[in-house]
Amino acid sequence: MTAKLIDGTALAQRLRAQFRTRAEALAARGHRPGLTVVIAGDNPASRVYVRNKIKACAEAAFDSRHIEFPGDVSTATLLEEIARLNADPAVHGILVQLPLPPQVDSALVTAAIAPHKDVDGFLPVNLGALLIGHPEFAPCTPAGVMEMLRSENIPIEGRHAVVIGRSNIVGKPMALLLLQAGATVTICHSKTVDLPAQTRQADILVAAIGRANFVRAEMVKPGACVIDVGINRIAGNEQTGEKASKLAGDVDFAGVREVAGWITPVPGGVGPMTIAMLLANTLKATEKASTQ
Ligand code: NDP
Repeated sequence: MTAKLIDGTALAQRLRAQFRTRAEALAARGHRPGLTVVIAGDNPASRVYVRNKIKACAEAAFDSRHIEFPGDVSTATLLEEIARLNADPAVHGILVQLPLPPQVDSALVTAAIAPHKDVDGFLPVNLGALLIGHPEFAPCTPAGVMEMLRSENIPIEGRHAVVIGRSNIVGKPMALLLLQAGATVTICHSKTVDLPAQTRQADILVAAIGRANFVRAEMVKPGACVIDVGINRIAGNEQTGEKASKLAGDVDFAGVREVAGWITPVPGGVGPMTIAMLLANTLKATEKASTQ
C-alpha cells in the first residue's frame, strides 16, 4: 500500500483564499483583521517563522505588523509593549515568537497577552476552555491537524487515536481535540513502556516528539492515518556531498508511507496548516471585536 498524501500547503492555500473573502468583508465595515508579531533577538528559525506568518497575512488581506526588539531587551520593555498592543483596537491578535532571549521571563510576557487577543491559544484560560469543550482559540498546530483530518473525511468518532508527545502547545491540546471529536485517545511520552505496542493500535497516529524519523513502519497499523508534526533540522553530510541542512519530520516517511493509509509530508504538511489556523483565530478575534 502507498499512503495518500495529505498536502498541507494546498489546503492552507485554499483556506487563505476563503479567509481573504471574510477579511475583505470585515475591512469594508472598518475592521480589517490585524495580527502583530513580537520578536526579540536574532534566532534564524524564528525569523523564518515570522516571515512566513507575515506573508500568509498579506495573502489573506490581513493587516500584519512585526515589532522587533534587540537580543538584550528586558522583560519590562516587552511587558510595556504587550500592554500597548492589548489596548490598541486595530490589533486583534498578538503573537510572541518563542524562544525569547534567556534574560526574559517568557512565561510572564506571554501571560500578559489579553485572552481575547491570544490567537496562539496558549494562555491557561484558553487551554482551560478547550479542556471543558468550549475552545475560543484552539492552539494552532493541533487545530491544523484536525482540519487536515476533516479535509480527507478521515473517520475520528469511535476510532483509536494515539498522540506521541504531551507538550502544552501540541500533544495535550491535540489529544483534547481528538477526544472532543469522539476518538478514544491514548497519550504517549518518553516514559511510555513498549511504545510500538501502543502506536500499532492507532487508527490515527500523531507524532509530536522532536526526533527525526522516530516513527518507523513497524510501529504503524496498516491503513492508519499518520500525522507528522515534527520539524527537525538535519545537518548536511559532507561524505555524500550533501551540504545544506534539511528538514525531517518525526516519521520515517519513506518506510511509513508503504504501510499507512494517509500520511503528511515534512515540509508541506502540518507547518503551513499551523499558520493557516493562526489566521483563522485572528479572523475569529476580529469578527468578535466587530460585534462589540
Ligand atoms: P516538546 O519537546 O515540548 O515535547 C516533545 C514530547 O515528545 C514530550 O512530551 C516528550 O515526552 C516526547 N518524547 C520525547 N522523546 C520521546 C520518546 N523517545 N518516546 C516517546 N515520547 C518522547 O516538543 P513540542 O511538542 O513543542 O514539539 C514537538 C515537535 O513538533 C518538534 O519537532 C517541534 O519542532 C514540532 N512542532 C511543529 C509545529 C508545526 O507547525 N509543524 C509547531 C510546533 C512544534 P516527555 O514529556 O516525557 O519528555
